[in-house]
Amino acid sequence: PSQWRDGRPHQLALHGWTGLGGAMLPNQDTTQLYLHPCAVVQIDQPTRDFYATARVALGVAESLDDKEPARAHLLNALDDAFNMLDTREPFDEGFYDSIPRAHAALRAKIEAAGPPLDATIVATGHAHLDVAWLWTVDQIRRKAGRSFYTVLRLMEEFPDYHFTQSQPQLYDFVRQDYPELFAAITERVAEGRWEPIGGMWVEADCNLTGAESLARQFLLGRTFFREHFGRDAESRVLWLPDVFGYAWALPQLIKQAGLEYFFTIKIGWSQYNRMPYDTFWWQGLDGTRVLTHFSTTPEDGGFGTSTYNSDATPSQVIGTWTNFQQKELHHNLLMAFGYGDGGGGPTREMLENIRAMTAFPATPRLCQMDVGDLFRAIESKAARHLPTWNGELYLELHRGTYTTQSRTKRANRKSEFRLHDAEFLASLAAVLDSDYEYPAATLRHAWELVCLNQFHDIIPGSSIGPVYVETQKQHAEVQQMARAVQDAALSAIAGRLGDSSAPESTQS
Ligand SMILES: [Zn+2]
Repeated sequence: PSQWRDGRPHQLALHGWTGLGGAMLPNQDTTQLYLHPCAVVQIDQPTRDFYATARVALGVAESLDDKEPARAHLLNALDDAFNMLDTREPFDEGFYDSIPRAHAALRAKIEAAGPPLDATIVATGHAHLDVAWLWTVDQIRRKAGRSFYTVLRLMEEFPDYHFTQSQPQLYDFVRQDYPELFAAITERVAEGRWEPIGGMWVEADCNLTGAESLARQFLLGRTFFREHFGRDAESRVLWLPDVFGYAWALPQLIKQAGLEYFFTIKIGWSQYNRMPYDTFWWQGLDGTRVLTHFSTTPEDGGFGTSTYNSDATPSQVIGTWTNFQQKELHHNLLMAFGYGDGGGGPTREMLENIRAMTAFPATPRLCQMDVGDLFRAIESKAARHLPTWNGELYLELHRGTYTTQSRTKRANRKSEFRLHDAEFLASLAAVLDSDYEYPAATLRHAWELVCLNQFHDIIPGSSIGPVYVETQKQHAEVQQMARAVQDAALSAIAGRLGDSSAPESTQS
């Protein structure tokens, strides 16, 4: 930006966090942190654009089968283009002069290498932000801020960039910590380029969380999106890419909360069995059916077989189509790209890849669009032919999460019970006593804390120790609020019953 080119020194501040970065690696007792060399550079845009096209062409060629003619055409195109570069003196005028010609030739030969596949991958930018995991909730507030600033900056450079982000709790942190960032996000939401997605307050665990809490996750989450982004921005898709299994009751809750579709990749991580479908009707206990799609994007060299953290590489784009099991039914698939778990989101390289692969030989077409609209398109094309899965979506992995950190699970259940009693008594008091003011704000805050701690790495027990110190404190706070509400409500009720000798509250 021009304001920095004033000939004066400027300070660049880098923030790093020395947390448990390497704790996932086997045989590593202590965390190893690396600071790789970094530099402030000036980008020569034509060179960078040429490099991006060449990178994608090579990636596609390497991902294609040897029998595919486009593979040889692409390798020849690259060979010819690089021969046109003037590399006698690195980075002199002759080199830069030769870039446009080489790039034009490369583009022309790529186009002549063959048609794209008759399949479309909808690529949506995403930053999976674990509200706590190998870091505490304090840290995710900063991670969200950094990730979202990056998104807005890259949106200025890439007009087609569409970003999808879940978890109202994160938006609420950003609203409190970075109000100007939140205002800028609101503008992008209004433009339709930033899609608030999902229905729950956080991406909550769906096995250990109580039934009423699941309903509250939807109530709090939906209300936040509606209050801050308007009714038009309310998501139709329950977005839970990383939750460790999905209860059979969920389809009914999804529909009753006003959502229509369900998205995950996690069942692809099952240890033994693969689900026979990637797009299907998921039927709940009561018979409610929800159109469900699993993203089939492969994880390059990673842990699971499918990912919500795609790097948008050619092999992942081609792999998304290759892995899809129901090619006879529809040709529109979802790929969520961008660094995730600790956030970060899409990078410039990923966005360049996607731009280059809009229509690339022997490769699925790529576009960026609203995820809700993709589900709508799948429904209109294939709804009548989709198979039905009638049962829970059980994950054959992470099983230890049912038994570890039992103190946290117990505290969650106690908070749920206490809030039930407090709400029941407060409602009764409000009916009996017109002077009694229903403590809506207190109860809402209490439910927000309970819902926050049902996040899919908190209540299952998969977070680091310091997370649970905070969780215990917050559950104690919730139970204290519930008790205060209960006592005040019992007082009001007792006063109306006209029995002045009755004790105000001896219940626990
Ligand atoms: Zn996660």
